Amino acid sequence: MEGYKKIKEEIDSIAKECGREGGVKLIAVTKTVDEELIKKSIEEGASDIGENKPQELLKRMEQFGDKVRYHLIGNLQRNKVRTIVGSSILIHSVNSVRLLREIEKRSEIEGVTTEIMMQLNLAKEETKTGMPIEEMEEFLEEMSQMKHTKMIGMMVMGPNVDDEDEIRRVFKKAYNLKEEIAGRNLRNIEMRELSMGMSSDYRIAIEEGSTMVRIGSLIYGERHY
Ligand SMILES: *Cc1c(COP(=O)(O)O)cnc(C)c1O
Repeated sequence: MEGYKKIKEEIDSIAKECGREGGVKLIAVTKTVDEELIKKSIEEGASDIGENKPQELLKRMEQFGDKVRYHLIGNLQRNKVRTIVGSSILIHSVNSVRLLREIEKRSEIEGVTTEIMMQLNLAKEETKTGMPIEEMEEFLEEMSQMKHTKMIGMMVMGPNVDDEDEIRRVFKKAYNLKEEIAGRNLRNIEMRELSMGMSSDYRIAIEEGSTMVRIGSLIYGERHY
């Protein structure tokens, strides 16, 4: 366990080396972590908290209120959308047109604008929950018609391999896609964030243009499920 402060300094330093000082946000992933440990990290400056399940994120909101911002980074089922829309949660993991439509519908009912990111599966692993690239055009087309949902970037997970070149290839591809989509100037789509990088691959992710790294075990220690 390295603690929040050390990791934050490490990330700031890598970002600076890459000429992007202050350009990388650290999202502390608090899955299964004790409340006391999270409190300590907030005292050390943690400003953004991520969970992969809506009910866990809602629990964190009860615990920590408006001291931090909240990020949903895991698979969201359509029947759970209503539990989080209206709570100012940034949803990183929107991975289908059907899910997007549900978020739009609930946001209209709640009278809010929900910020989302499109999660793509570029590592092409069965276990990854992102959207296949073949569905991306339809998603962007749909996205550009939304009135209560706004897309601010995309999320990608690196492949679960030891080969750094392979990981780098996936992150490069993600960055290039992000830039390409940004260049189209589509209505309602502002590609300012690229959520990529975890404990094992955050350095490569930052070098390749990540603006948000999602780190859990390196801050809080190994998880006990
Ligand atoms: C758990 C999780 C992380 C953090 O993983 P670590 O390896 O502990 O840093 C990042 N992103 C997602 C989507 C996760 O589910």
